[in-house]
Amino acid sequence: MLTLETIRGMALALGFERVAATDASPTGAPPPDAHPQALSLEADPRRILPAARSVLLLAMPYAPYWPRPGEAAVDAYYVANNRAHENARRLAEEISATGAQAVMTSSLRVKPLAVRAGLGRMGRNGLVAVGGFGSRVSLQTIVTDLPLPASREDGGALDARCDHCHLCEQACPTQALRGDGTMDIGRCVRAQPENRPLPEAMRSMTGGSLLGCDICQRCCPRNALVREAEKPPALAGALDLKRLLSGDYKALIPWLGRNNARKLRLLNRAALAAANGGRKDLLPELEALRGEPEPLGEHAAWSAETLKHGDHREIPDAGAARRSD
Ligand code: SF4
Ligand code: SF4
Repeated sequence: MLTLETIRGMALALGFERVAATDASPTGAPPPDAHPQALSLEADPRRILPAARSVLLLAMPYAPYWPRPGEAAVDAYYVANNRAHENARRLAEEISATGAQAVMTSSLRVKPLAVRAGLGRMGRNGLVAVGGFGSRVSLQTIVTDLPLPASREDGGALDARCDHCHLCEQACPTQALRGDGTMDIGRCVRAQPENRPLPEAMRSMTGGSLLGCDICQRCCPRNALVREAEKPPALAGALDLKRLLSGDYKALIPWLGRNNARKLRLLNRAALAAANGGRKDLLPELEALRGEPEPLGEHAAWSAETLKHGDHREIPDAGAARRSD
């Protein structure tokens, strides 16, 4: 029968730097005002695999990309998550090939399970930090019938490093963080619905980002050991704003996966990135998109007007002091 140590070796070969296990008992329910996606997650591992005895928690670290003013960006998390998801599925297949039952799933509440397994600690920014990798990790779960040695840490308290720190609360541009590890999801830029125009006050806060918001991670001392990396050239090419605003987005699918690399999702934010980067050279592309249905048409019009009337503002970069070179 596979041991946790053997599984660690298999996981390491697939890029997972930390592996922990907990029992298959349910986690608590999420707070009632959690993001709809979080509310839809399953609290009971046995609803995924009735014979479950353990849950494996896997952490794949990543290096955040160095932001470049005037360029489109994606949080490196999305690229790492795409790879981590596929490799966790492969690991589950490898475990299953030994005769055990193992199901890789994205349907469980991974953060409370990771804390319970002793993989990391929850921070005031609502993210789990893992050892020297901080919160710059993609977390994955595999439910198995293997009786693995299970940790059961108390998940109640925040990471001790948050005791005298409020940097993430102070850096959040929308005051979404409540200070106790939870957030007012309606205020978080990352959680805004994609099918409606972004509230006008938030449009300059997205900077060049096509997906997500990185501010409450970039400022966090728990990530102090994590160094930024240059984007791979092929990804930088796929993020070219002129290309994206012309509708050429498919080169991003291998990097982000089909769910994240959806045309309108990317174009909606690319239109804002043009104004936030001061890219007047993209006015022809923006003007061509003004007639598109909301939210793309609205974002293109806002960007074109912002660029024409000189209302462009660079967003404050909360991580500037923490860069590696
Ligand atoms: S910025 Fe400070 S308070 Fe916020 S999660 Fe990081 S260590 Fe904790
Ligand atoms: S992701 Fe951005 S908007 Fe959301 S809590 Fe963090 S800093 Fe605030």
